[in-house]
Amino acid sequence: MNQVSLSLANKYRPQTFDEMIGQQHIIWILKAKMQSSRDSLQNYLLCGPRGTGKTTSARILAKAINCLNPQDGNPCNQCANCQAINTGTTLDYVEIDAASHTGVDNIRSEILDKALYPPTDLKKKIYVIDEVHMLSKWAFNSLLKTIEEPKGNVCFILATTEIQKVPETIISRCQVFNFKKVPNDEMSEHLANICNKEQLKYDTGALELIANISEGCVRDAVKYLDQVSILWEITQENVSKFLGVSSEASIKSFLDTIKTGKREEVFASIEQISNDGIDLYQFTKQLIGFIDKHLLEDTDFYLQVSEIFGEIIRQIRYYPYPAVIYKIALNKYLNPNTAHFVLPWEKEMSKEQRGFGRKEVSQPSIPIETEKKKAEEKILSSWTNVKDLEPTKAESTKPEIAQKERQTPNNSDYIALLNTIIAKTTTPMVQGFLKEHAVIETIENNIISLIVTNMTAELNIQKNKVELEKLFSEELWIATNVVITFENKEAYFARKIAS
Ligand SMILES: [Zn+2]
Repeated sequence: MNQVSLSLANKYRPQTFDEMIGQQHIIWILKAKMQSSRDSLQNYLLCGPRGTGKTTSARILAKAINCLNPQDGNPCNQCANCQAINTGTTLDYVEIDAASHTGVDNIRSEILDKALYPPTDLKKKIYVIDEVHMLSKWAFNSLLKTIEEPKGNVCFILATTEIQKVPETIISRCQVFNFKKVPNDEMSEHLANICNKEQLKYDTGALELIANISEGCVRDAVKYLDQVSILWEITQENVSKFLGVSSEASIKSFLDTIKTGKREEVFASIEQISNDGIDLYQFTKQLIGFIDKHLLEDTDFYLQVSEIFGEIIRQIRYYPYPAVIYKIALNKYLNPNTAHFVLPWEKEMSKEQRGFGRKEVSQPSIPIETEKKKAEEKILSSWTNVKDLEPTKAESTKPEIAQKERQTPNNSDYIALLNTIIAKTTTPMVQGFLKEHAVIETIENNIISLIVTNMTAELNIQKNKVELEKLFSEELWIATNVVITFENKEAYFARKIAS
């Protein structure tokens, strides 16, 4: 029977490469390497989405490297070395989480001091550094120095979800393994195995549903199963109730209702879904996933509605009444020719750009209306107290005046800095978006907080975050992080005026 004390995730954490799921493309190479004798100077970099088994693999790898009685490249989990790593009783195996403060201190003492000495009880000293991209420049340099002068008895296993933030010099000294999201069918099979071992009753649809909402993350999937398992029966209904998600059948039925075009029925469905405690954000994700999977079955209809859901999902978290957003968006789709409420995110679109329309193709939202712009300038000038100046070019031309009348201390510096970055940005569209809709709010330590007052602009600027960080870093001579936040214009200016 179920051991309540141990979470399913811990209980079923793979202990050998063969128990790993969804990463066969990596596992066979690792096993082959473990069986070959030419592994002596290797470091590893494991990258990929969260919850796909990077840290678990790192631990298995550490055991396989040190195992006294390996089985086809797998660790035996019985010998003294495997046991020492499993129970955490050896100082030669060190796991460091670079995302934590203690992680940084550990790196200092571990990498600089202790890695110099040979292992005391294992064959090789193993350092697992999780979320390695979080290391500071300084820590990366020390790591690099250690890796550059390889010692046969020390091995680094680095893991990261963001390989683009790991310096090239580190990457080039490691063998890189790309983990991928676990496919739904393998995930369901994995969950079924756990259910069988735990003697839990289940239906396949329920496990597919869990696999579906876990989006390839084993950790989440097993956690969900664990939560629902207190009901003993893993049925679609239980999963749906317990996790606030919809079954595939209800997703399909909701889409069918939309297709009938009957507004009252659509609204009633939305009410029902909302009253059932379904999280509408998760529901929208499921809808999009369903459409993606079944697109060829009803292509025209699915393409039309997917546009609505695409918009909804981008906005739904910003509004307190998600069901209302749903009704407004779908009403517009069902009755494209009647006058409607303006959706929050449409306030910045022109009339022609509004509305999805059952037969029309919707336009991407681009620039703001002139009157809006005028209002913005008016408010901006009252904010900076420099009436005749344009907000973006602004004070660089009249620095002294600006200096005196300015209310926000670094305002003109920020504008000048942003203008420099805009000039250096390589994508014209992003350049335009930055110019029209972005303001530097604060620069604190090395964090640049950028407020963007337009949704489309925000999405595009987000996509180019890496380039922006590079440009800011070059300009300011420090490694910078750019934090991009959407805030609608009204709210932004209201806040500025209030302060
Ligand atoms: Zn062993």
